[in-house]
Amino acid sequence: MKKKLFDMFAELFGDSEGARFYFSPGRVNLIGEHTDYNGGHVFPCALTLGTYGAARKREDNKIHLYSMNLDSFGVVEASLDDLTNKKEYNWANYPLGVVWAFKEKGHTITSGFDMVIWGNIPNGSGLSSSASLEVLTGVILTDLFEIKDLSMTDLALIGQYSENNFNGCNCGIMDQFAVAMGKKDHAIFLDTSDLSYEYAPCVLDGAKIVITNSKVKHSLVDSAYNDRRNECAAALKALQSELDIQALGDLTPEEFEAHKSLIKDEIPLQRAKHAVYENQRTIDAVTALKAGDIERFGKLMNQSHISLRDDYDVSCEEIDILVDLAWKIPGVLGSRITGGGFGGCTVSIVKDESIDTFIETIGKTYLEKVGHEAEFYTVDIGDGASRLD
Ligand code: ADP
Ligand code: MG
Repeated sequence: MKKKLFDMFAELFGDSEGARFYFSPGRVNLIGEHTDYNGGHVFPCALTLGTYGAARKREDNKIHLYSMNLDSFGVVEASLDDLTNKKEYNWANYPLGVVWAFKEKGHTITSGFDMVIWGNIPNGSGLSSSASLEVLTGVILTDLFEIKDLSMTDLALIGQYSENNFNGCNCGIMDQFAVAMGKKDHAIFLDTSDLSYEYAPCVLDGAKIVITNSKVKHSLVDSAYNDRRNECAAALKALQSELDIQALGDLTPEEFEAHKSLIKDEIPLQRAKHAVYENQRTIDAVTALKAGDIERFGKLMNQSHISLRDDYDVSCEEIDILVDLAWKIPGVLGSRITGGGFGGCTVSIVKDESIDTFIETIGKTYLEKVGHEAEFYTVDIGDGASRLD
């Protein structure tokens, strides 16, 4: 990979002398969906799939960005002195947003830089290729410009800040946090209310994580995401008329049941129910995993899917087909939608001996029912973003 990237770097920028090599993973969320902007818990892990980058400082203030995945855009050129989101920058608005966010937060970027990237995360499928690219850029900037006072958590927050404010996506902190803080063979039990976290070993004895890409992305995704946020905010406001809480994640299911009549509208009530119960499921799932009970972990994943489908209403026909098929296969411990929803991927825990059947059976039936192929990735849990050499 390094050679391919550095050869391209030399072709575009004269030579690759002094260029440095970086990696930033994608992530999959095992359980705890749509809880991160509700002050609840999430349980994602970084993948060994990710985004690679080669980068070098320049003498002037120009920023040159090139993606080997989207080579039709050529080298995108911007300037350190004019960092605004421009339509023609396309994908490069993600790294440029991070440069902008560094400056906004008072970190000095002393010159422009050249950067070439290549990634193997399917884009726009809920595996966080955007967060991967943002945190990659953050790692590159701190390294090239010797910015010492930023932790990996800070880089996650800067990535989120740039995605919220430069790229207009109101995402929570989970994606960037998982990408920045990932640890091989561990998932991250993160409390999004205060960013306290714990690594939980995720060695699934005799089973693996299989991601299935539905290869659909319904256009609803961005507007529905913002709708869900507003609906949760409305439910919270109603509960706050009597309760001293900051977020839905502050409530146990019992407390929610005792006070839910404060929420008069049906839709916010359903959304809040999901947020509260999903938070509890996530806590329970981590307890089960720590106790070595992956059967229970899988059952909680299934319940998570039902809640996302029925109460949170973020699934879609194609994803429900994938999950329903998975649930019928012996050796599948759990299967659910992962990511924002309305398409993208499912995540399943599948016993080693059932993986071939899983891929064949679901692959065939999905093609028959939906008319295009699904993609399958049997994944390993990897480390967070870093400079490789
Ligand atoms: P997700 O984060 O779930 O993959 P998003 O829609 O949030 O989906 O982000 C996908 C976008 O991120 C792509 O459309 C592209 O603009 C950018 N991106 C991610 N990886 C790359 C890459 N390797 N090269 C260029 N752009 C990328
Ligand atoms: Mg994204």
